[in-house]
Parts: sequence; C-alpha cells; structure tokens
Amino acid sequence: MKVGILGAGQLGRMLAIAGHPLNHQFGFLGNSHNEPSSLLGCMFVNDNESLVDFADVITFENENIDVNDVNEVIKTVTVYPGVESLFTTQHRGREKDLFDQLNIPCAPYKMVNSEQDLKQAVKAIGLPAILKTATDGYDGKGQFLIHNVNQITEAWSSMKEKESILEGFVNFKRELSLIAVRDTNNNHKYYPLVENTHHNGILRLTIAPAQSIELEVQKTAEQYMQTLLDKMNHIGILTIELFETENGLIANEMAPRVHNSGHWSIEGANTSQFENHVRAITNMPLGDTTPTHPFCAMINIIGEIGNINTALNISNAHLHLYDKKERANRKLGHINITANSQDELNDSIKKLSDFLPK
Ligand code: AMP
Repeated sequence: MKVGILGAGQLGRMLAIAGHPLNHQFGFLGNSHNEPSSLLGCMFVNDNESLVDFADVITFENENIDVNDVNEVIKTVTVYPGVESLFTTQHRGREKDLFDQLNIPCAPYKMVNSEQDLKQAVKAIGLPAILKTATDGYDGKGQFLIHNVNQITEAWSSMKEKESILEGFVNFKRELSLIAVRDTNNNHKYYPLVENTHHNGILRLTIAPAQSIELEVQKTAEQYMQTLLDKMNHIGILTIELFETENGLIANEMAPRVHNSGHWSIEGANTSQFENHVRAITNMPLGDTTPTHPFCAMINIIGEIGNINTALNISNAHLHLYDKKERANRKLGHINITANSQDELNDSIKKLSDFLPK
C-alpha cells in the first residue's frame, strides 16, 4: 500500500524503514526536502493535496497538527489513528477529562485562563503544583513548577496568555510508559512497561522492560490502555506515560503515535512499534510484542553526535541516526542495547556513558 505520513521527522523515517520490507511505499508531508524522512519515499513539501493523491492510507507522526486539515483529508482517504485520538491528545485538559471519565487515576487538575483562575486553582489543588500550557507542550517546554504563592504572577506570565492547566505535583518513584497497538479488527497487543529517565525534560534513557514490575501492575496499565484504545476507536500505536507511586500508577499524558520510549523495540522486540503501527494501519495482522532479550535499553543521542564508534564497537549495541544537523537539545539518534543479563546491560550502558547526562 501507499502510506502517507503527515510529518517527515525521525518517526516518519523509522516507520518507513519498518514498512519497506512489507512492500509498502511511503510519502511524507514536510516543510523542506531536507528532513529525516526525505530519502525514504516521496517528499511533498507543504503540499497536502499531492500527499492525499498519493496515499491509500494516511497517518501522522506528530500530534501538533491541525484537526481541520485532517478533517479535510478524511473526506478522500482514511486517516489512522483517527481524529478522535488526535483531538483528545492535543489538549491536556481533554486528555485528563478522558482519564477521569474512564476511572484512570491522574493528578488533580484545573484549567486556567487568567491569573485569577490560577489563584483559585492553587487554592483548590495546593502546592507544589505544575502549570503547563494546555496545547503544544513537548519535552517539558511550557511548564512552571510552583512551590509557593509568591510565584503565581510569574508562573502565569510565563504561559504568555495561553490556556493552561494546573496539575498537582505527583511524588513518583519512577516514570514508566506503556505502548500498545490496536488493529481494525479490535485486536490489541501490549509491549511491557518501560522505565524512562529524563534530563531537562528530554528523555535520555529507557530501560525495557522496566525492572521489578509486578504482573498486577502490568495488567493494570494494560487495562487502562485497553479502555483508552477502545473509547477513542484508536487504530495503530498509542503511548501512555505513567508515574509509578506508592499508591499505584498515575496517568500523565498520552501520545497517539509511535514514541521515543518505544525505540528499543526495533531490536528489542519481535515486532517493533514502527512495524506494528504500519501493520495496524494497512490491515495486516499485528506482530508479536514479546522482547527478544530479557534486558534492553535505549540511549538518546542529544545535541551532538559524539563518538559513535564506541557504539559501533559494542556487539550488542545498535546505532540509529536520523540524518539531522547537530543543535543543542535536538534528538539526533539513539542507541539500542540488547542483553541477556543485568550485568551485560549495565556494562554496555557504562561504555556508552558519554551519551548520557553527567
Ligand atoms: P510532561 O510534558 O507532562 O510529560 O512533563 C514533563 C516532565 O515533567 C515529566 O516527565 C515529569 O518528570 C514532570 N512532571 C510532569 N507532570 C508532573 C506532575 N504532575 N507531577 C510531578 N512531575 C511532573
């Protein structure tokens, strides 16, 4: 089939790399001929119409796209995961409302449109609390951690008049994520929960599967995920970020797409998140999500490429570069590690420590 992707970044690139062996062709909607996906299919620069003409099915690699554009596209060609997933996950308030509606625990929250609203929200929720823009936030951008009431004015002005959400601060033990896929016949498959470490709001390290997760916790996460997939009639990969706390899992946010915390699955699972997304949206049977090794990790390459030969010289490490220019805080690639023991994993991570924040 011809798969059209709204966006042409590294996620589009990895979707195409996974989809080529299945005999699919790819087309991308981008802003220039110089994007990570450019050499992997037809590039349509700011030309929605030509992408629609090209594609048998369309998907997206970024949720910050205009729902009106997608509503136009679906008049001609099917778009998966679908408008409902896109519309819900673009807005933190709508996302939290859905968690509430489906009895999925999340931090207490209030929508904020003025400094006065923020004062009232702080009274209702208490401090510390995090103020976030309702839309367009990524990698921890557009957030303000409020410790005391004297910071309310500064916090609100940092939102630049944008609709915001105040969330109670969650005292978490670890940050986890769950990735799952649903096909058009309502089959679901789940990857194991993974543990994510961030630095300055950017994901740096994923350990897959997350260690010491009880079966009950995995099952609970899968049950939350299943209700979300079914409620939104989601087709393809869905990611949910969760906090692990003393009192169980708390949902943070969702992404209606393949996710950085699932990159380990390229070598670390029988079927990667990218291949499973492509399979789901092209009506192919879903692939097995079981890990290929008991211990896997993913290290992001951020800002500068560094000495990639270190990775190339480790037998159980796999390098993925995205053809992007070096720039501070930019995701340029990642390294996957597969291992048969904790010691082997730790040893490889240690050798790659130059890629991790000090
Ligand atoms: P987000 O953009 O919502 O994923 O937030 C970025 C990061 O901020 C998360 O990965 C957490 O480390 C932290 N964070 C977000 N929301 C909360 C919260 N309600 N309580 C504690 N930490 C949070």
